[in-house]
Amino acid sequence: MSDAAFIDDDFPEVKINCPPPPVTPRERQRLEILGKQWSVVWLPSMKKALGRTDHDQLQIEMERGHPDDRTIATLLHEVLEAINRELVLGLDHDTIERLESAWFAFFRAQHIDLEPLIREDGE
Ligand SMILES: [Zn+2]
Repeated sequence: MSDAAFIDDDFPEVKINCPPPPVTPRERQRLEILGKQWSVVWLPSMKKALGRTDHDQLQIEMERGHPDDRTIATLLHEVLEAINRELVLGLDHDTIERLESAWFAFFRAQHIDLEPLIREDGE
């Protein structure tokens, strides 16, 4: 006797009509900067800094738990640090900080959504 004999044909097939799970944005894991693939690592807490750029590892470390605007500005800063080093611009931290503010304000003024910088779609 096959297993199929035990299937009750009278029992109506139950179709559960639930919507697909929402695509939840997750923290960005990778960024391409000047043709190089950088990884983004999110940490619960960092000492003193909100972000850190590790040029040897091609890795940006970010402290999570801050408002989106703050996090986006921090990531912009770290990307500028990466570009600064990559192009040997020789900008100091204070200059990069001012560039960070200027770029952030510029994108904001054009209504350009920067959230994809810090989040990517989940699967
Ligand atoms: Zn810096």
